[in-house]
Amino acid sequence: MRRHNRALVLQTVAGEQPVSRARIAARTGLTRGTVSSLVDDLLAAGLVAELGVTRGGTGRPASPLQLNRSGPAGLGLEIGVETVGACVVDLTGAVRAQAQIPSPHRTEAPAVGLGALVSVAARVVAGAGLPVAGVGVAVPGVLADGVLERAPNLPRWRDVDVAARVGEVLAPEVGDVPVTAGNEADLGALAEHVTGSGGDDVLYVSGGIGVGAGIVLDGRAFRGAGGRAGELGHVVVDAAGPECSCGGSGCLESAAGLEALCRAAGVGDLDALTAAAAREERPTVEALTAGGRALGIALAGAVNLLDVPVVVLGGAYARLGRVLQKAVADELARRVLWRSPVEVRMSPLGPDAALVGAAVSVVRELVRAG
Ligand SMILES: [Zn+2]
Repeated sequence: MRRHNRALVLQTVAGEQPVSRARIAARTGLTRGTVSSLVDDLLAAGLVAELGVTRGGTGRPASPLQLNRSGPAGLGLEIGVETVGACVVDLTGAVRAQAQIPSPHRTEAPAVGLGALVSVAARVVAGAGLPVAGVGVAVPGVLADGVLERAPNLPRWRDVDVAARVGEVLAPEVGDVPVTAGNEADLGALAEHVTGSGGDDVLYVSGGIGVGAGIVLDGRAFRGAGGRAGELGHVVVDAAGPECSCGGSGCLESAAGLEALCRAAGVGDLDALTAAAAREERPTVEALTAGGRALGIALAGAVNLLDVPVVVLGGAYARLGRVLQKAVADELARRVLWRSPVEVRMSPLGPDAALVGAAVSVVRELVRAG
């Protein structure tokens, strides 16, 4: 009971900080005495901090409370196809340190990527200078209970228990803290949801070498019966299309994945593609229009099934601008059955969303558990 009430108090602080003890009592229905005692607990645990004493008209000074920005922090990690990233967020979800380094996961064994993860994690943990209370790992593939069942672009990571392996290699850096692993698009959707760019019903698309989707319905992540929902990249957009890394053919990924877009535009990487898109070079405009149409076809199918009013284009897509956005919006307007338009937004977090979401998932759980 005390644990439950402590969590309730902490969630109230998180919901409307800075907030007074009296306000917490009014919001939770707990007595002033109980609130004071629970707040003392939370202060001792470093989860909340006093903002500073302000004097009211009469009586005792009131010290508003807020989440402790020097308190326990979340470490987010991302295993990309060709990179690893790490970031630390404080209890409020603010990013305090972030870094990314190359690491080739299509060819190398997991041990190589895990080594790279440790070095980038050590760098951000030292940079942030906060105690790490937990680790979240974002992975571009299908997970069940922290085990990566399948990631077509990480062929050597099949059936790897990501959470357990990361926990082992990171223990010397951060100690024995909880480690969870999740799909990168789901975690990207969480970050977008927390920062308010999506809404309660939203399809968040993470574009990169792979293409994934995070589905938020009624304010909650929808992951399907086995936690695997959202493999938008392997929705078929052209039954006669090219073979895909998943073993199928004509998948969205082979029409609108980052490598397909770069190839069609005749450029080498995302930076070059972004620059060419900004200059509106013709081959790039044509490539983004064709890729955006394919993306719109897949998304129209999802919208017709789920009736979500907002689509957020994230990951690499967030950098590719209006041409892509317009092609997607045009295709949705043509194919979605109802008249209310589907809004296509560009993600403000862009390629960082999954990494930030992985770290935010840790501090959200801390606040939820109290
Ligand atoms: Zn496929």
